[in-house]
Amino acid sequence: MPYLYSNPILVKTPPCISCENIGIVKVDEKDWIEYTQTPRNQRRFIQDIFFYKNKADREQIMTGTHAKCFEEMFKEQEEERLQTYCTSCKKITNSSRADYQGEFTCNDCGAEVQEEE
Ligand SMILES: [Zn+2]
Ligand SMILES: [Zn+2]
Repeated sequence: MPYLYSNPILVKTPPCISCENIGIVKVDEKDWIEYTQTPRNQRRFIQDIFFYKNKADREQIMTGTHAKCFEEMFKEQEEERLQTYCTSCKKITNSSRADYQGEFTCNDCGAEVQEEE
């Protein structure tokens, strides 16, 4: 059943950490007042206040991050893959490097491999 707004307002969300644009979300005014004007330890959880918004919208209200941008950031965190020569396996193997790693790692033996110039 769709939620019936009693007094819908459009609120600006913080600049998105990915695209740096602000966003607009429709919420009920009373809920926005509760969210922004009640001390954090006295107000309800955001999922209770904005129960009629989906998770992506609530995420945007809290952090400004758009659902689409979040997805793209997540995608970019996927591993990079490369065919490299592993000196421990003594053969060409599949290597991967996750975002947090500096080196490519051989998927066969786990040894660090150098990216070929
Ligand atoms: Zn964005
Ligand atoms: Zn290896």
